[in-house]
Amino acid sequence: MKDIDIENAVARVLSGYTGPAETPAPAPTSKPGTTGCVWEPVKAVDPVDDIIGGMLTRALGERNCSNCKAGDCQGKAGCLSISDAEALELGDGVFATMDEAVNAAAEAQRKYLFCTMGDRKRFVEGIRAIFTDEAVLERISRLTVEQTGMGNLAHKIIKNRLAAEKTPGVEDLTTEAQSGDDGLTLVELSPFGVIGAITPTTNPTETVICNSIGMLAAGNAAVFSPHPRAKGVSLLAIKLINRKLAALGAPANLVVTVQAPSIDNTNAMMAHPQVRMLVATGGPGIVRTVMSTGKKAIGAGAGNPPVVVDETADIPKAAQDIVNGASFDNNMPCIAEKEVIVVDQVADFLISEMQRNGAWLASDPSVVERLAQLVLTEKGGPQTGCVGKSAAWLLGQIGIQVGPDVRLIILETTKDHPFVQEELMMPILPVVRVPDVDTAIDLAVDLEHGNRHTAMMHSTNVRKLTKMAKLIQTTIFVKNGPSYAGIGVGGEGYTTFTIAGPTGEGLTSPRSFARRRKCVMVEALNVR
Ligand code: NAD
Repeated sequence: MKDIDIENAVARVLSGYTGPAETPAPAPTSKPGTTGCVWEPVKAVDPVDDIIGGMLTRALGERNCSNCKAGDCQGKAGCLSISDAEALELGDGVFATMDEAVNAAAEAQRKYLFCTMGDRKRFVEGIRAIFTDEAVLERISRLTVEQTGMGNLAHKIIKNRLAAEKTPGVEDLTTEAQSGDDGLTLVELSPFGVIGAITPTTNPTETVICNSIGMLAAGNAAVFSPHPRAKGVSLLAIKLINRKLAALGAPANLVVTVQAPSIDNTNAMMAHPQVRMLVATGGPGIVRTVMSTGKKAIGAGAGNPPVVVDETADIPKAAQDIVNGASFDNNMPCIAEKEVIVVDQVADFLISEMQRNGAWLASDPSVVERLAQLVLTEKGGPQTGCVGKSAAWLLGQIGIQVGPDVRLIILETTKDHPFVQEELMMPILPVVRVPDVDTAIDLAVDLEHGNRHTAMMHSTNVRKLTKMAKLIQTTIFVKNGPSYAGIGVGGEGYTTFTIAGPTGEGLTSPRSFARRRKCVMVEALNVR
């Protein structure tokens, strides 16, 4: 290569960092692009520019990210330099009205139809890359704890990483084919279009990450309606995704939301004609609401997961697993152990082993009464202000000081107590004693309230494990492990933060956000 060629290439590449390119981008191409989707102008890259660009980028310390207004983002993971205040501003997928947000997502989805599966894969990998960055993980997890006042930083980091790493991608979309004398038929998993996703305050960013990956992998655009209490961090997560997707050449606004999430905005989203599917991850109220819209709806609702322990279980391990699961993120996960049902013969042993593992036993009835007054509303449900608080905080409120080694409050009670019947989402775990394992299984089925959500059992009796799994019909059934093994922490398999018991999809993944469509070629392409 001549010196002049190198000089010209350096000038061309540098102009991309310092100012507008001298030559305009070529016209849109219809050739499937390797650098972007076919709907948009694909800038032809001279191979020389490519090599020199790479060298210059490294030499400049990847400082000048094309999206970064401030110019100091270090170019890390695209352009992720968004301050907490900037996260609340319009732009990067955040709109003033729901109508604008949905229309932008609809336009993006039409363009997205013409992206390749390779593009989709890159975009999904891009989302994973944002939220596996340690600094980003720490930031969104810390902001969630600060903004919602709930949960535990270290556990939120685990949950966000889990959503980024273990939510299935495009590989989940498998094609069926039938061929014969009449030709070839394909049944493919095709997008719905624009999906309206309502997210909970208990897993705000985890659900945005998980739903964005799943919905985009299936070819959809997503309009999020976050919980207002988690507004700032939800908007930040959505903006980070938009910045990254822009850097990867995706259509703008594949993942959007509104600046001021509210019930009115959620209602506007649900009623918008361009929204073809609704996905609600939250309590029973919002699940009922989406199911009554007349649109295709996925409802991922409340749970009240029981854990059964019988006399054949490894009790020290069961106690440790139960304390670990029930104290994870201060018991907020919908899958977390919410009540223990233990066979009388091993109940005392289990309780003492739980105490050895960080559980504080409330044995004085007056303490249990004071706790009930603190954490329950007049109707008997959980006080919002106590949801997701730590065991030490809850005990502190009733004048009992304990150290940080106390992770969980346990108490013995009867099956009718509100602590047993209600989904508290705080580290208070009631223990109910029963005479035998069959009674335990029947009671577990009763206390699960037909949510079809999650249950656990500690036993080495395979017949009883099978009996419980069959009768309880939960989406997740964990045997001899903590509840979080059911979403892939220390258990095999993929994760989801949208567990759809009420509408039957169960463990949602990209295929849950797709329609089965048929493509028929008549009298051809049968080569047998
Ligand atoms: P929530 O029902 O109060 O809120 C969930 C979402 O729905 C929020 O975005 C909220 O703003 C919205 N919303 C609630 N009522 C609404 C209404 N009338 N109109 C419009 N929007 C409305 O639940 P939460 O406290 O945020 O989350 C905890 C609940 O979610 C628990 O019951 C938990 O079990 C459940 N959850 C379920 C799953 C699952 O996968 N099944 C996952 C996480 C949480």
